[in-house]
Amino acid sequence: TVVTRFAPSPTGFLHIGGARTALFNWLLARSLGGKMLLRIEDTDRARSTDAAIDAILDGLKWLGLDWDGDAVFQFARADRHRQVVDQMLASGRAYPCYATQAELEEMRSTAQAEGRPPRYDGRWRDRPESERPTDRSPAIRLKAPTEGETVVDDLVQGRVVIPNKDLDDLVLLRSDGTPTYMLAVVVDDHDMDVTHVVRGVDHLTNAARQTQIYQALGWVVPKMAHIPLIHGPDGAKLSKRHGALGVEAYREMGYLPAALRNYLARLGWSHGDDEIFSSEQAIEWFKIGDVGRSAARFDEAKLQNLNGHYMRATPDHELMAALRQALPYLPGGPAAAERLEATGRWPALESALPGLKERAKTLVELLDGARFLLDERPLAVEPAAQALLTPEARALLATLGSRLAALDPWTAAGAEEIVRSVADESGVKLGAVAQPLRVALTGRKTSPGIFDVLVALGREESIGRIADQTP
Ligand code: GLU
Repeated sequence: TVVTRFAPSPTGFLHIGGARTALFNWLLARSLGGKMLLRIEDTDRARSTDAAIDAILDGLKWLGLDWDGDAVFQFARADRHRQVVDQMLASGRAYPCYATQAELEEMRSTAQAEGRPPRYDGRWRDRPESERPTDRSPAIRLKAPTEGETVVDDLVQGRVVIPNKDLDDLVLLRSDGTPTYMLAVVVDDHDMDVTHVVRGVDHLTNAARQTQIYQALGWVVPKMAHIPLIHGPDGAKLSKRHGALGVEAYREMGYLPAALRNYLARLGWSHGDDEIFSSEQAIEWFKIGDVGRSAARFDEAKLQNLNGHYMRATPDHELMAALRQALPYLPGGPAAAERLEATGRWPALESALPGLKERAKTLVELLDGARFLLDERPLAVEPAAQALLTPEARALLATLGSRLAALDPWTAAGAEEIVRSVADESGVKLGAVAQPLRVALTGRKTSPGIFDVLVALGREESIGRIADQTP
């Protein structure tokens, strides 16, 4: 069976590129009835933090990318990594290297001066044991092949051939006894029975080096798929400036996880011209070989439009549940939740959703549209809306207020009838009554349908807000 893994280093949040890598691993595993494992690569002790681990787990959960079994922590496996190196020493596939920092530095600067990539010159590769110093501990290096070539048959990048003379003897174990990333990844993937390694194309050269380690150990090399990086809309590598934020930032901006999943799936992968599809659909369609090689472009405007589509397509009670879940993370969300609780207006918010979601691309915009439900009397009227409250308009509001007070039952249709008749009787257009009414009820020039607003606010609050604006 297929086993994939997502292997983030917990040195920062789960950023958008990492989330996309996790998604592709998840899609591949789920599409083939396999497993996706999670490995936290926390071997960089200085830069790994618990906060980052929490953010990664939380981000994956929020995005709905579930993994199988418990997360594996790489640092906890260091003894196993050392044990494998002992095996390699015993079989002659690795050797101790006593080169000093100064020697290594010299190799680096010579290479730099000659304009070639730095490489270790193999000076300890064939030295007899008798020459080994006793006053310091060695690093352990792979005895890599010097002739021939190493081939990575990549499912996305195709056949990648690297001449072995270009790959030096990499370090497996540092002189302080800590395993290197290159070794740990190989041992862990092997021990976790990983069949498919899916990760960013920036790991492609590592893939060749890791292949050499697999071969030295006589282990089967997993299938590899190195997926293209994500670029900004301007074609440059994605940076903070482009919105390369942690996924938690997208939660705070009011995106729905399903919309973000859909959007990320399209970054590098496609199924015909399909742009909008559920994760179930993507799982059915996904083939790793359909991932393209060119860098994908992250376009936040596209993500917003897609999110708006998802919001409109979500049934109101589900959207309401999503909003309630998101509120703690949205700007002003906790205060809004408190207000809705105190005023008992949760049902009013739900009934206003059909109008609100037509105007919103994110939950943040949705919440902003719902502000009329949160504000307290007397309402602060936006300056641009203030101009609509002319003396004539206020007089119309006064008439309207007394008529509405008699409306029973309190319905949108009944309210509309009254607004129309007040306009008719005063010889003005409907807008001349409806616009000041909107301002009185919401403090703004735009809002959901004004009769829906009346219903959402209820009789007492509506009439009170109208009265606040009448002479
Ligand atoms: N821990 C590595 C990273 O965060 C990924 C290693 C891998 O996928 O093989 O970039």
